[in-house]
Amino acid sequence: MKPKPRKFIPGLLFWAVLVASNLPTAHAGLPDDTTVYWNGSGKRVHIEKCRRLTDDPAELAKLTKMTLAEAKVKELPPCSRCPGSELNEERLAETSDAASQKAKAFPPETKVYWDGGKRGHIASCRRFPEDKEVNSTYGKMTAAGAMLCSRCPGSQLNVERKARSSNKSKDYGKYGRKGAKARAAWLNYPEKEYDPKTKAYCDALWMRVHEESCPMVLLKDKKRVITLEQADKEGWRIGETGQSGRERCCFHGYRRNHPEKEFNQDTPGLTQIMKSGRLKWHQAGCHRFIIKPEHVPMTMGEAMAKTDMNPYVCVHCIERGPNLTTVDLKKLRQRPTAPEFTPPAGWTPEPFSPDKRPSEKEIDILIQETLARDYSILEAPFENPLASLEEFMGMRFFFPVDNWLTFYQAYRATGDKRILESLRVSARHYRDLCNNYPDVAQLKARDPEGMAFMYSMAVSARLTLKLARKHPEQVNEQEIAEAASFLKAIVSTLKPVCEGDDNLDSEMGIPKELADDFRRRAFNRALNGIGTIAMATAALEDLQVVVKTSALQPQIDRYRKCVREYFKNWKSEGCLYTEADGKTYFYYPYIAGGDTKRQNGLLLGGADDQGHYSHSMQGVMLVHDATPELGADDEFMTAVANAVYHNSYTKNGSIQCPSADKIQPLSRKKFGAPIDRFYMFEAFRDGVIEGQCSKLSPSEKVSVNSEYSSRLKTLHAQYLKALRENPGLIHL
Ligand SMILES: [Zn+2]
Ligand SMILES: [Zn+2]
Ligand SMILES: [Zn+2]
Ligand SMILES: [Zn+2]
Ligand SMILES: [Zn+2]
Repeated sequence: MKPKPRKFIPGLLFWAVLVASNLPTAHAGLPDDTTVYWNGSGKRVHIEKCRRLTDDPAELAKLTKMTLAEAKVKELPPCSRCPGSELNEERLAETSDAASQKAKAFPPETKVYWDGGKRGHIASCRRFPEDKEVNSTYGKMTAAGAMLCSRCPGSQLNVERKARSSNKSKDYGKYGRKGAKARAAWLNYPEKEYDPKTKAYCDALWMRVHEESCPMVLLKDKKRVITLEQADKEGWRIGETGQSGRERCCFHGYRRNHPEKEFNQDTPGLTQIMKSGRLKWHQAGCHRFIIKPEHVPMTMGEAMAKTDMNPYVCVHCIERGPNLTTVDLKKLRQRPTAPEFTPPAGWTPEPFSPDKRPSEKEIDILIQETLARDYSILEAPFENPLASLEEFMGMRFFFPVDNWLTFYQAYRATGDKRILESLRVSARHYRDLCNNYPDVAQLKARDPEGMAFMYSMAVSARLTLKLARKHPEQVNEQEIAEAASFLKAIVSTLKPVCEGDDNLDSEMGIPKELADDFRRRAFNRALNGIGTIAMATAALEDLQVVVKTSALQPQIDRYRKCVREYFKNWKSEGCLYTEADGKTYFYYPYIAGGDTKRQNGLLLGGADDQGHYSHSMQGVMLVHDATPELGADDEFMTAVANAVYHNSYTKNGSIQCPSADKIQPLSRKKFGAPIDRFYMFEAFRDGVIEGQCSKLSPSEKVSVNSEYSSRLKTLHAQYLKALRENPGLIHL
């Protein structure tokens, strides 16, 4: 329906209030004989002046005409846009732009209900008691020092309240800058009227409802269904999705009538003690918070009472609002936990050399440190299991990938089988998720960013099967069967995304949706997923050899094509540039389609920053180790190493080749070094680690490179260097 220009003028409200306040009943903003129109099915009627009522005489003739009194008998109130209606006043009281309004000067004879306390009400107030009638006047009430309440339309307190709430609803300031911006953008959807009885599907984790057709409704048949009207009244978030609720997935154009539910003193949550010593209160399920058994459940009131710990509420939790279930702490405590690391007495960590193998004792300590890392099962076990799946869907797998990457590199650098076992813990968990909830897993894996949840499955299967091929005596049947089960789960999860010939992209020859995703997703976000596919591909090839079959070849061929096309597109969006000294450099824009141009073979503008570039390279490493021929061969890795090395001696936050830097140095973010994620490129160019540390003093350098992560990455660079000599090498 096309919105009509607004016929209502604010002054009319006060006229209506005045009239209403002089009438004997509480809810009589409009005379009972007012003509109203009803469409025969909705829960609301409209008066002639309502902008929601059709202009078209033919349409109007189809509607049922009656008096307001008749409509009241049928329990059909005029809608919230009908000027002068009760719902309209209520709506205005909640949302109108208070800045342009002043408190009304109520005539002393205005009829009010006043029980002798601090506050009274005019007849149009929604707090006017149902069972009471006006019993006093504004003059008498104020003479006794009482005021009209903050919901009495036009009262002093009401105007003040509106000023506060309209600021809030205008810029959503309490939701932070990004949160406010996202929510303000929703108002660009033209307002749309929904039948209040529209089905609203309730999430299990967050207090959110969705439309029946919303793609974010998981396990629909298990969901509670309420009406849109009830959802609005109870304060559910309507059509919100994503970690912080910044994406609008459904109910586009719906404007809520009631405020969103907020936390109160009794809201249950969990607390964590921050490094600063402060107490931070979260809702279980917050993406900024991986629940551990040591976190203490507390209500918000209890947490805020711990004033000696300077308590505060997580801003992401404020933005997202209340959850609906609690963590099953018993189940959480049953999950496998990593052993604790105790540094040996008298041991002081020291930097590893890029080319000399550390002592066995040092390597053993590194292994112990690695084994102490958590397995990175991201979603918590909630009392309502559906909530765990919803949390899983909302999670971005950047964080676990960090620990899985650590396990992977540590295994390559040491060959310690317990580390491989650490990878399998999360792999089993996510395999079971794929098998028990295939729809959910497939939805998560519909783009390369989401596919990264299968990282530990792919990588552990690859390591196990590579070992089984080369050293059959080191791997037992059960381990092979388990690796096969990981791969089976990956294949069935990727089926709707990577297989099928119905809708192939004409250029890439892979499913169109995936091809389009390759072209628009920020590279750093996609590459861990691409690396996961590459690892799964290599593992499937190993499995074919180990169990002597060729049944998996169709999947292998498709996955290979996906990885190859990804790299082809990435390299064409980016730039492989050979400088006068004969060295080639690789750099690329943060995202495809940005503000870039080409000049004599150089890419100018948009170059990715060091941090994101380094994240992209973690995925590249997997492709290099699994399927180098698909785009991450030695030559390419060397071009990356050259670019990283060059950048480390500049002050530029973005990585480019020297010629591009000469024309226009870029800093998408501020320059920062060292980044130990780059240390592995020491294998492709001597001096990369030294370059990363070139801005540090000698003592700073020792301190940074003594850290666990630097030692691991340095040793891993040794593995990669040895791998170049011996392509069959499984670990150092
Ligand atoms: Zn109306
Ligand atoms: Zn009131
Ligand atoms: Zn939705
Ligand atoms: Zn209402
Ligand atoms: Zn939080």
